[in-house]
Amino acid sequence: MSKSPRLRVGIGYDSHRFESGRPLILGGQSIPFAQGLKGHSDADAVSHALTDAILGASGAGDIGRLFPDDDPAWKDADSLDLLRLAVRHVAAVGWAPVQVDVTVIIERPKLASHIPAMEQGLAQVLGLDTSLVNVKAKTNEGMGWIGRGEGVAVIAVATVEAR
Ligand code: MG
Repeated sequence: MSKSPRLRVGIGYDSHRFESGRPLILGGQSIPFAQGLKGHSDADAVSHALTDAILGASGAGDIGRLFPDDDPAWKDADSLDLLRLAVRHVAAVGWAPVQVDVTVIIERPKLASHIPAMEQGLAQVLGLDTSLVNVKAKTNEGMGWIGRGEGVAVIAVATVEAR
């Protein structure tokens, strides 16, 4: 049998549609904007993509399997809590986050001023130093559904190590 690696990498992706009358929550931060994101939970696509990256790296399934969106327990859930539970879940199977990197693809609003708070909040949940949590945002140059401001997409990569 081959030796199991001590470090593993996972990728996560999430997207949510903008909807009026909801707060915009990304990376656990409430961001002033005319619209929020539609979803069963708080629709925090950053936390969701990151959760999937960590679960994927740990070979521990995915966010939908852990937190089914037809389960009333997760209605309007704070997605940082879901991320926290996912970290606990992978710890139980022997993995701990080492470092994460996130790209948010969003036409508006500009996120730059919110990114330090996102990184700090996520780092706290992940049990990591802030320097090991990187979040960046970019537009889609006006192209397609993101460019038209219909929604947001997030890609996350996480490294985990054997505990
Ligand atoms: Mg989601």
